[in-house]
Amino acid sequence: MAAPDLVNISGLMDDAKCFAFVRQHRWPEGVCCPGCGSSAVIRDGCDDTQPHRQRYRCKACAGRFDDLTGTVLAGHHQPLRVWVLCLYFMGLNLSNRQIAGELGLTVSDVQAMTEQLRAGLVAKTPAVKLQDEVEIDEVYVVAGHKGQPKEVAKRGGSGAAASWQARRAEARWRRTSHPSSA
Ligand SMILES: [Zn+2]
Repeated sequence: MAAPDLVNISGLMDDAKCFAFVRQHRWPEGVCCPGCGSSAVIRDGCDDTQPHRQRYRCKACAGRFDDLTGTVLAGHHQPLRVWVLCLYFMGLNLSNRQIAGELGLTVSDVQAMTEQLRAGLVAKTPAVKLQDEVEIDEVYVVAGHKGQPKEVAKRGGSGAAASWQARRAEARWRRTSHPSSA
C-alpha cells in the first residue's frame, strides 16, 4: 500500500485564528499599548497585506502598533501560521530536525525560530545599546609560540598582555536607558 501524501499542515491553518492566538497569548487582559502600557487603545484597521493582522492606536500616547509589534514574530519572512505551528511542535518536544521536516524548512531556520521563541513571544526589554568602551567576555589568546621567538616579538609578548589587563580593568558595560516619554 502506498504511503499517503504528506499533509501540508501549515496550509490547513487558519490565519485569523493564528492572529487571535497571538492576541490572546500576548494580551490576556485585553490589548494594551507596548509603548506606554495604556489600555486606552482603539482599533485602527488592518494590515494592508495581512487582513487578519489588527492595527491599533493608543489614545494615551498616540502610538501606533499591531498584533505583532514588539514580538519575535514581527518582521520575519515566515508566515505567522508557521511560527504558531513551530510553537505547537515545540510543546510536543519535537526536535528541530523533526519540526523542520514537518514545516518543510531547513534545520538552521527552525533552530533560529525555536531559539527566539524560547526567549519569549514578546520582547520585554528594548535592545541594549552599547556605547563608550565595551568589554567582550571571552578572548582567546594563543598560549605560546614555542620555537618561534620571532613570532613572540611580533605579537608584543607579555607587555601587550599586561596592557590589555589594565585596559580590561577600566572597561565596562554601559547600558543606556531609554528615557520614558510617558
Ligand atoms: Zn501608548
